[in-house]
Amino acid sequence: MISLPKQKSRIGIYLHIPFCPHICPYCDFVKTSKFTKKDVNAFFSELSAQLDFFLEKIPHSQNKEYATVYFGGGTPGLFDAFYYEPLLDKIRDRYFIEETTLETNPLTNIKRRFSDYLSVGFDRITLGAQSLCPETLKILGRKHKRDTVLNNIEWARTAGFDNIQVDLIYGLKKEIRTINVADEIQELNDAGASGVSAYALSIEKRTLFANKDFACDENAASEYLLILNKCKSLGFKQLETSNFSKKETFHNNIYWYGLPYLGIGTGAHGLLPPSEEHPFGIRYRIGEEKIKSYAPGNDELIFSQQEHRMKNFSIHSEPLRTKQEYLEEMIFTLLRTPNGISLSWLEKVTENKTISQEILANAKIKRGIEEGKIILENDSIFLFDEEKIRGDLWVSEFISLIK
Ligand code: SF4
Repeated sequence: MISLPKQKSRIGIYLHIPFCPHICPYCDFVKTSKFTKKDVNAFFSELSAQLDFFLEKIPHSQNKEYATVYFGGGTPGLFDAFYYEPLLDKIRDRYFIEETTLETNPLTNIKRRFSDYLSVGFDRITLGAQSLCPETLKILGRKHKRDTVLNNIEWARTAGFDNIQVDLIYGLKKEIRTINVADEIQELNDAGASGVSAYALSIEKRTLFANKDFACDENAASEYLLILNKCKSLGFKQLETSNFSKKETFHNNIYWYGLPYLGIGTGAHGLLPPSEEHPFGIRYRIGEEKIKSYAPGNDELIFSQQEHRMKNFSIHSEPLRTKQEYLEEMIFTLLRTPNGISLSWLEKVTENKTISQEILANAKIKRGIEEGKIILENDSIFLFDEEKIRGDLWVSEFISLIK
């Protein structure tokens, strides 16, 4: 297992809240906008049962350990703090919580809720702004406005949050955007955001955007450079290819550095901790395969099937995770981080003492190092910041060497 000296938690708990005020046309997460209060109450009670199940199932250690908690969605910020308090209490009985995040949507946030969230234990807010540019927001089907986003940041700040991460989408066709992405980040910083998570628009098959051509790779590459430079100038540290912040992000580190996490709630994925029998952990998801294939726009399906209910709740273990799969996943995520891959770690996991030499002798990697695209520093090999957007190309090169 990779060591993460800056944080105490070695396990994350992700809880999926699949309710949204409306469906955004680019989104392929498991969610619904058709629900009643009864559905919500039933869902939270099932979520609580699933949490009990997992807290019971995973191995206990004698000493209370640390964990990170993340409520994602969907739109968890649609609901009052009292929905979350009992779930957090259950987790606190079992773990010290090192970080507690709530995903929120500027359209539906309510000022008074921020102090309630803080009082039940949340210490990190993510805000799904996606943009401050009216034309970009319109194309993305987002119904909030620039001022709503800036007000939300102020509400969260005033309530006492100092870790406010704003989600952005870039890489739309040039003619759509009327506000430069770097100017957006400057405004968010001035309003009090502590960081941004910026993802290039990707057109997913199972969405209402399936046949649209709003994304542009070339523009994504040039906007990525603007994002990098602006974040650097503001003191937002690059935590991972798409994440920049003045604060640490302990929960996301769990994913990026391959640590186990419990995924709870319809459509959530998890990675159970390694055991003697399963040295690379067990990946699983909650819910039937068909929840992944709901038709775009038909967002009632997950409730008509009642797939979130405990009576139908089932864990679908994915086929045994092999060492090769583990290594490929790790190379993919580690090359997105500033620390990159530790060569001594790689030698140990592959049980191949010459793997470092083989990597450094590879013609493409060698040229990458000469051109400054890949950096070799002590025991680490990592991608230069500007090269991270082309990370997938390098991932395949590294993976070809460990096959
Ligand atoms: S992008 Fe967020 S708010 Fe929009 S449908 Fe997806 S989960 Fe819901």
